Amino acid sequence: MSASPITATTAVTSPTVLITGVHSGPNPSPGLGLARSLRRAWPGLRLEAVDYSPRATGLSAPEFDRAHVHPDWHGADLDAQCAALVSMVESTGGVLVPGLDLEAELLAARHPGHPGVLAPPPAAFALVAKPAERAAEVLGLAVPEHRRVEGIEDAADFAAAHGWRVWVKGPRHDAVPVTTLPELATALHRVRATWGGPALAQRHVDGVEESIVFAALDGELLGACAMRKTMLTAEGKTWAGTVEPVRGGRLAEFVRVTRWTGGGEVEVIREARTGERYLLEVNPRFPAWVHGATLTGPNLPARLVTAATGLPPHLPERAEADGFVRVVEEIPADPLPAPEHRAFPGSAAAKHPSAMPALSRRLAPARPRPAPGEPDAALARDVAAALPVPPGESPCRVLLRGALESGLDLLGGVCRDVAVATGVATRFAYSVKTNPDRRVLGAVQRRGAMAETVSLSEVRACLDAGFTGDRVVLGGPAKWWRHDGAPVDVGALFCDSVSDFERTVAVVEQGLAHTDILGLRLSTIGVPTRFGIDLSHPPTARAVAKALRTAGIRRIGLHFHHAASRIGAVAWLREFTDAISAAADLCARTGVRVRCVDLGGGWRPGTSRAELAGVLTRAVRVATRALGRPEQVLFEPGKVLAQPAMAVFSTVLDVRDGPDGRAAVVDASVAELPDWAGHPHRVLWRRPGADWRVLGPGDEAVLGRLCMEHDRPRDGLALPADLAAGDHLLFLDAGAYDASMSYRFGT
Ligand SMILES: *Cc1c(COP(=O)(O)O)cnc(C)c1O
Repeated sequence: MSASPITATTAVTSPTVLITGVHSGPNPSPGLGLARSLRRAWPGLRLEAVDYSPRATGLSAPEFDRAHVHPDWHGADLDAQCAALVSMVESTGGVLVPGLDLEAELLAARHPGHPGVLAPPPAAFALVAKPAERAAEVLGLAVPEHRRVEGIEDAADFAAAHGWRVWVKGPRHDAVPVTTLPELATALHRVRATWGGPALAQRHVDGVEESIVFAALDGELLGACAMRKTMLTAEGKTWAGTVEPVRGGRLAEFVRVTRWTGGGEVEVIREARTGERYLLEVNPRFPAWVHGATLTGPNLPARLVTAATGLPPHLPERAEADGFVRVVEEIPADPLPAPEHRAFPGSAAAKHPSAMPALSRRLAPARPRPAPGEPDAALARDVAAALPVPPGESPCRVLLRGALESGLDLLGGVCRDVAVATGVATRFAYSVKTNPDRRVLGAVQRRGAMAETVSLSEVRACLDAGFTGDRVVLGGPAKWWRHDGAPVDVGALFCDSVSDFERTVAVVEQGLAHTDILGLRLSTIGVPTRFGIDLSHPPTARAVAKALRTAGIRRIGLHFHHAASRIGAVAWLREFTDAISAAADLCARTGVRVRCVDLGGGWRPGTSRAELAGVLTRAVRVATRALGRPEQVLFEPGKVLAQPAMAVFSTVLDVRDGPDGRAAVVDASVAELPDWAGHPHRVLWRRPGADWRVLGPGDEAVLGRLCMEHDRPRDGLALPADLAAGDHLLFLDAGAYDASMSYRFGT
């Protein structure tokens, strides 16, 4: 190491403080705030700015005595870049306060322990890399559920499990909120293309955010303040905040354990629902709002420089307020070249003038290219039994009987688990609209399960498949559509509105319909929906009470359905609980008893037996506590059963090379896979005559046969190196809405 220790004399007489990362924009670096804070302590201190583009606006700020533009990170030699900074520090006998975390990490790795570089040691950077579980442990905080995602299948599975309120985060920077599959695909692509390296998916936490800024030297905490954001930019960056001092506690321990040097920021969120405090991230540098903290009293940048150089502050710390706001200010500057054109909606270069994305990509490991893998034995058997398809029948949809039967096994197991746990007879009613294929209905029928329908023609399809009327549930808003007056005999009838209930009562009273259970579908209360009756709305509840009294009905069924695959199991259970408690009020007022509770469908494909039985059991307990024990519980699986039970077989027509990599064109299309934007389909590949292989995550795409831009049934795959026209691709997970909503187009 070539460090020259700072001698007391040079430090006290004329230290220079070098500050890097001085861009001041909507998403600023801390450099300018650091300079302002240091100026408050030492009006005459020599401050020099370093950045990597003349567009880093703080370079023109009057706080700096000198500004340096170093080569940008795209092509620069990384060793030379670091050596230049260190030699500046050594030649001035001063210190460097880095404002860019990747630059700080690089410096720490290349010049570990240099006394003039006020950055944490390399091991500290490793500890705070996302998701920073070890850092959270030391700080006494939880970490939100997360998954390191290789590709879209992984990420979509995680997002569905967390109600499609998740963040995609880069290894060091960036956090993109995501609520749909297309957003997820875009975010994964953006994070990878901008920063390199794998992305992290993390559950959203609803709550109040707090940031803690601190300064430390060699593991000793020099001070810390907590800040609550009171104004945010559209990107969620701080624009105003209130600040209060914090005592060391866990933070002091964290600083000691990591032997932290320099500034840092801990971002924490307190979950509103649970009160649990979660660590969002630890930034290995001062935050951009650090000067806001200085204005409230503690001057952490000055304390750091004093501790590192021995230079006492010329002016004491002083508090001017308990908070701060930002303002925009024009300052004189040398003219910059105008941008050639205005990028839409704002280029990365404009957002990151210090070119951290370029450095991040250079430091990121190359993305591994997974070779096609072996499918598990059950899938291989299932696929072998479903094929071959007759020549000339590509593309075509095939039934995977093994997947269907194992899905039925799982649902049977769930019924038994819930019945054992709650003491209530539990059955499932397969949702016919999800996929009305006769083979699927037949398999459900043979298991003795029920069917859930939304039209009289679906009821007929069930009777044709061998169901008796008492095993059919009829619901939905259009149940009397095309009713020709012929008697209808079903096991349960659920009504979607007060008027639907009145009409259905009339149909039953006329003897045109017979049902064991007459019931109401409850709407969600906190989640918008077009379905069901909102019993938390007093006029609606009064109308229902009146209709029940008029009809002399004393026993009813209750139905609740909202897709847990969309809102997540936690929100589902909360919505169910709220709907049931509104229903319990009605029952108490009218003296009506609930015989049957139907818990609906919308369960995420891939949900395990334990998980599904767990949620249903909790729901039955909620219902039992509020309403008394029902005689019967139903639930209505659709896609959890049907989605894995069919696949679309296709033939490769063309393999093309382009600037964005290779793509395969197949004879299938989004007409056979209309739910392409709803969930990613796993894809198998084979050479004719060879075994099927599973394709892993990558950056390549499968394009459909249609002349439509959006006909890309699958993005984000690694195609096999030797893929050729005539090979076969099998799109799995095509047995739910891909089947029932498929259409004829371009054939
Ligand atoms: C569509 C539907 C289902 C099945 O939904 P999936 O998402 O396929 O599980 C169950 N119950 C009702 C009332 C439905 O409308």
